[in-house]
This record gives sequence, C-alpha cells and structure tokens, in this order.
Amino acid sequence: MAIDVDEWEIEEETYLKGRILAGGVIFSPKSLEVAIAQKAKGQNRVYNMPVNAEVSRPQELCITGNNHYEVVVSCVAPNGNNDPIYLDANIKGELIAIDNNKIIENVNCTFVQEPHYYSSKISNGDLVKKYVTSCGFDEFNIIPWKGCAISKGCKFCGTNSFIDADSLNAVSLSKNFFSWQNIEKTYLNNLREAAMLAINDGCYKEHVHIILIAGNLSDTLLDAESEVFMQIANTIKDVIAKKTPEGIILVVTPPIDTNILYRMKESGISTVVFNLEAATRNAFKKYCPGKDHLGYDFFVERLEKAVEIFGQGHAWTNFVLGLEPIQDLLTACTQLSRKGIICSANVLHLDKGNTLDCSVPAFLDIINFFYQLEEINKQYNYKPYYCAKALRTSLSNEAYAGRITKRSESNEAKK
Ligand code: SF4
Repeated sequence: MAIDVDEWEIEEETYLKGRILAGGVIFSPKSLEVAIAQKAKGQNRVYNMPVNAEVSRPQELCITGNNHYEVVVSCVAPNGNNDPIYLDANIKGELIAIDNNKIIENVNCTFVQEPHYYSSKISNGDLVKKYVTSCGFDEFNIIPWKGCAISKGCKFCGTNSFIDADSLNAVSLSKNFFSWQNIEKTYLNNLREAAMLAINDGCYKEHVHIILIAGNLSDTLLDAESEVFMQIANTIKDVIAKKTPEGIILVVTPPIDTNILYRMKESGISTVVFNLEAATRNAFKKYCPGKDHLGYDFFVERLEKAVEIFGQGHAWTNFVLGLEPIQDLLTACTQLSRKGIICSANVLHLDKGNTLDCSVPAFLDIINFFYQLEEINKQYNYKPYYCAKALRTSLSNEAYAGRITKRSESNEAKK
C-alpha cells in the first residue's frame, strides 16, 4: 500500500526516507536504547555531522518496505523548516516512526550497525577505520586526509570542523606536501592491509561501493592530489575487484592538467565525480566561492573530457538540492545529461560548520525533483549512483525503482 500525497503515490519506505530528509528525526529515549542494543553506527565524523548532534547520535536508519525493498537514510537533524519524524520503540524493542502523531505502517526500521571491522586492527596496531570507513550500509570510503584546503570553503560544508590534532589534514599537507611523500609508502601498505580486512565484513556481502574521496588540497596541488588517488586505486584494485558492481569511484575536484584523466583510468578508476554542487552560475558563486575561484567552466570542461576518456555514464556530478530553484537545477541536469554526464543530488542537510542562508526543501519538492530527474535519466538509460542502501540523502535510486509514481500514471496502468 503506497501513501497518497497530492498527485503522488509513494511507497512507505521512500515516504519515510523523504520525510526524514525534509524534516529530520528526533529520537525518543527508548529508541536510543534500541540503538545501543542494535550496536548502531554513531557519527563517523569524517566529513560531516548534523547540527546539535552528539558523536553517539545514530548515523543511519535502514527502512524496509513492501517487496523487501530496503533503503538507508541519514538520521539528519531537525531543521525547524519542516516537521520532523519522531522515532520511538514499542515494548518489543521494535522501532516505530511517527509522522505528525500518526504511525507510519508497513515499514520495518532498524539502525545501520557499526561494521565489525571498526574495532579490528592492522598489524601495526592502527584501527582499520583509520583507513576505511563506511557510509550507508555498503559504502567503502577511503579518505586519506581530513578537512579541505580550498581557497574558500563551500557554505554548506562543515568538513573543517572535525580535524583531530593527530589526523592528517588537507591544510597542513598543502603547506608541506613533502610530509605526504614521507609517509606515502607506509600509508599505502597500511591501507592495503586494512582494505583486505574490511572487504570481508558482512556489510559488503552482497556488493560494495568503493569511493575514494577527500577535501581539496590547495588549488596549486590539485594535480598532486590526483596522483595520490591514482596510487590508492593502484594499491587496492585487486583487493576489491570481485565485489564491486561499478568499479572504483573517485570523488574529487578535477586536476588542472586534463591529461591526468587518461592516467586515472589506467590506474583502475572507473568513474570520476566532479561535483558542481550548485547548477546556476549565481548559486555556484554564492555557495561555493572556492570552486568558483577555479571556475564553473573548469568543472564542466573536465566533466566533458572525462566522458570522452571514461565513457558515457562514467562522469558524474552531484548537486545540493536546496541551494537554488528546483526548475533551474533540472534545466542544468538536462543540459549536462545530453553531454553524457550523470547528475544527481543530495538533499541539503544542516551540518555543523555550515554558513548557509537557505533552508532544507519541502518534502513534496524533494519528491518532485527526484521524479523529474529520473525522467531525464530514463531518456539516456542512465542508472542512479550506487544503491538505495548506500545513498543516504538522495531518492534517485528509489525513483529509478518506481517507488515514486504519479497517481495519474498508476490509474492509467490499472485500466
Ligand atoms: S570543496 Fe567544498 S564541499 Fe568539498 S570538502 Fe571542500 S569545502 Fe567541502
């Protein structure tokens, strides 16, 4: 039984995910007891953390709807703009999602557990999670340093709020890149050992999404940054090859020298993701001033070049849904899709360290956007990124899977 809202029929798990993305989630004390019992993953604190959140706040919820369709959603913080979901637990310890005093039926909610490898160590005593972490259910994230040294930070991003004194970080590496060269060999050996342990975790039993990602080094070191990621891909590609449906995904600001893109492909990277974040030049300038310093066209030209080198559908760009009018964003997605670039978006969520003046979009705007985006992707046979259990703040997989339909369409289908 789907839920009817306005012109839409939305399957329950997708409804709940969309409502949490729009309004956030409040945990009852009982639901937090369940989180402890289920060994819920807390905040990774790798590159973001919700405003007003403690490290122990559960990071993600897994929601199963009809036909065993499973999605994972980030437990984003309430934003004061849209009504939050209240997550409670019944006497049996089962989670209950309450939407404006009404229980959402026909869904089964559990917390995403902390992977077992988070407590494992490699031979030098380092925790595996120093090298590999997991977002959603089955992302395998390799983030070689913390923070970002772009000339001016993006306004929605709080990545520089979580740098421990003893972590490698983008700002100090940018001041002294020799420090990376000194540790590179040891880092790569340790990473390989950690990857071999992590890849056998239960969370990667079905498949794994390998994502190499980090904040920028300084603008003059973008080519050197790409070199680091090529070495990482080379180091792990044989370890992860059999389990990944889409190969190694690299999410970075592109190199200045476009010839590096050829070598990226040779290193084992199968898809590159150069995120524009905002689609219109005005919003790009306003919300991503450091990226704007490199230039909007700098990104688009390298996405186009990546299509040529990696092939149609292997150059992706992601947006933050909420920075600009939805129709402007869809127009940009249409234009980029024609060029062979796959577009997607994460719903804006308010993280610690953000300096935004805009707010999270309304639920029906989120539904409408992902439905329209899927209409664009369908024309080119493009598939959404990763899967519904990895992408925690997007409904692109759910729209692709037909979990959002217009009532007029389903009436037509029933005739
Ligand atoms: S480029 Fe922008 S979004 Fe990416 S890490 Fe740096 S500040 Fe954050």
